[in-house]
Amino acid sequence: MAGLTDLPLRDDLRGKEPYGAPMDPVTYALNVNENTHPVPPEVRQAILSHISRALETINRYPDREFTALREALASYATRSHRQGTLDASMVWAANGSNEVIQQVLQAFGGQGRSVLGFPPSYSMHPIIAESTGTTWSVGSREQDFSLTPAGVESAIRLTRPDVVFLCAPNNPTGTPVSLETIEAAYDATDGIVLVDEAYVEFHSEGSLTASELLPGRERLLVSRTMSKAFAFAGARVGYLLADPAVIDALRLVRLPYHLSGITQAAALGALENAEVMLAMVEDIRQQRDRLLQELPGLGYTVCESQANFVLFGGVENPKALFEQLLSHDILIRDVGIPHHLRVTAGTEAETSYFLETLATLAR
Ligand SMILES: *Cc1c(COP(=O)(O)O)cnc(C)c1O
Repeated sequence: MAGLTDLPLRDDLRGKEPYGAPMDPVTYALNVNENTHPVPPEVRQAILSHISRALETINRYPDREFTALREALASYATRSHRQGTLDASMVWAANGSNEVIQQVLQAFGGQGRSVLGFPPSYSMHPIIAESTGTTWSVGSREQDFSLTPAGVESAIRLTRPDVVFLCAPNNPTGTPVSLETIEAAYDATDGIVLVDEAYVEFHSEGSLTASELLPGRERLLVSRTMSKAFAFAGARVGYLLADPAVIDALRLVRLPYHLSGITQAAALGALENAEVMLAMVEDIRQQRDRLLQELPGLGYTVCESQANFVLFGGVENPKALFEQLLSHDILIRDVGIPHHLRVTAGTEAETSYFLETLATLAR
């Protein structure tokens, strides 16, 4: 069998590692920040009837503009938006927000261009930069992993990127990003500012999202996903809110009919039942808050989190603790930050089992 080195691979891909969150089959999978509550049966039925209708015309290519889905996403996004309505012309979607982000870099990054990120952050951001030939540069965070307007501004002035990635709340730390910081980033660059809001639904009640800053800022992009709060990771649906001109730019790089008729139908069925799909979000927030409250009692430090996971520190040997938990049928995530591990807030039972197991293990 041949290896990668036997192939005429692109020089800039040699020696790179693919995204690799472990996928061990375990009972307590708390490693990739999914909503661990399954989709309720009545919503599954609604989705099935949408898919059944889509199958009637599956011999034809689907709506390339996925108009009905964009309208449904626009009205869903408008619910958490304070200033007026978001229109379907400001919405784009793809197979997961990872594909949205890839399309953004295909349109605005690429050879000879650079993207600035602030690690530790989402591990896919540099991988998508690499695969699109975009140079990856980094700025630094404060001690507590937060970002400040001044810090972001100076990193932008230093690296002069074509694209800036801000992850709000940030994965893997859970840290929120203030609107002032996003505004400061926008004002410091002539390039694109992409705010990755994969966890926006887990924000504490009343926080404002980057969508509030969209009016008059045509270089600001807000990406979101149905993979986390919406309990739809397996369906692969992510979306973007931005000026209609940005959406036109993405049309230049997307593959025709990139969202299958079945994906569009499934997403429509889920969005029609948004209330039910999101019913568990409050419970998940409570489990996150429980992790934040109880982990210090077990001798660990925690990072403030506005997402559905907690990064905890004070771990003597992360690899050893990860393995010990795995031997108890619990999978969490070693994100490579020294003395830290990340755990997803699951159901109440899952969270209890995690905390109880952890309490029995040596720190
Ligand atoms: C999970 C996650 C995503 C979601 O990716 P999908 O492709 O939509 O499943 C995007 N950004 C961040 C920061 C994430 O943690």
